[in-house]
Amino acid sequence: MLFDIGPKERRSDLFDRKKELSEMSEAVARGERLIVVYGIRRIGKTSLLRSFLADNEFLSVFLDIRKIYYMHRKAIPAGVVYERLLAGFTELLNNLGVSPEDQIQILSASQSFDITDLLSSIDKWCSKRGARFLFVLDEAQYLRSSRKVVYDGVIAWSIDNLKNITFILSGSEVGVLKDMLNYEDIKAPLYGRLKNEIVLRRLNPEESKGFLERGFKEAGQPIKGEEIRDVIEKIGGMIGWLVYYGYYRTVKRMGHETAVSEVFKEGSKISMSEVEEAVKGSKKRYTAILIAVAKGIATWGDIKAYVVIKTGDITDGVFDKLLSSLIKFSIVEKNERGQYGIVDPVLRNYLAERNEKGKL
Ligand code: ADP
Ligand code: MG
Repeated sequence: MLFDIGPKERRSDLFDRKKELSEMSEAVARGERLIVVYGIRRIGKTSLLRSFLADNEFLSVFLDIRKIYYMHRKAIPAGVVYERLLAGFTELLNNLGVSPEDQIQILSASQSFDITDLLSSIDKWCSKRGARFLFVLDEAQYLRSSRKVVYDGVIAWSIDNLKNITFILSGSEVGVLKDMLNYEDIKAPLYGRLKNEIVLRRLNPEESKGFLERGFKEAGQPIKGEEIRDVIEKIGGMIGWLVYYGYYRTVKRMGHETAVSEVFKEGSKISMSEVEEAVKGSKKRYTAILIAVAKGIATWGDIKAYVVIKTGDITDGVFDKLLSSLIKFSIVEKNERGQYGIVDPVLRNYLAERNEKGKL
């Protein structure tokens, strides 16, 4: 169902994304070793990856790195990716009916608990079978929280040496993932490697309308044209929030106005918890920046002036670093005219309201 809150797991539940799915299929068929899926929170990265894997005969292991990070009290312990990869790959071998003796043989080189050895074993096995293995790391930027294993190095090494393995990485914090992969830097390991980037964008108004109409039709419930226009105007083409709206209307049976305010209320709680995680280093200044931008103050100089009034003097350098971090975390965006805005309309609304109530 289109209005199910969780990530979609089948192509038949996915609205559109045909182009992205075929780009991914083609990249895998070409034997590309790195595919990166970028997109802000709730835009449909996990849904795209899961549906892609579900409807194909790929040999793959999917890891939700953000979940691992939170499960281990905000860290990526050294052995955990290795263990998950080993468990996932062993399950694939079991499903293929490979005997335990043969499995020991296949994995004999990887008893060192070293992830590069394990990847080598998998690559060797793929090479014999003429197969390709997909190692899918959702919200991969959290791998930077691993102190022991340098994952950008592991990935770069694998891409260089193992031709039967494709890494598929996704990330909401687009700038953070780019920093981790470091591939704009000439000296960085991933520089110059073939990379396929898929950027998931917001739905345009026409697509948003089509999405809502299809969802309501599926639920056997009518929706008025003016209601559609109103939601799109207020929450834009963020598919995740449109799903919440549809869910509140069709499953929770709320009226239009109630459903919209519920999206803002519940949505801002979710958004704020993510923002707080990102800004914990310098909360007061970050909050002042976010409020300024949410109020519609759009230029670098004006935002800085606002922050100075609210939180005291700050150097250009420090201010710029804070503003850039918010962009890296995909919380703030900068348009072609150099103006800043809050990416998520639900968050923008919440911050602006908080400001009106006189709270920072
Ligand atoms: P992300 O991983 O980018 O944060 P998710 O895949 O978790 O996004 O999707 C967020 C919400 O939007 C979920 O409720 C999901 O069901 C819905 N969604 C995302 N993409 C689609 C799509 N193409 N069709 C239908 N629903 C989608
Ligand atoms: Mg996701």
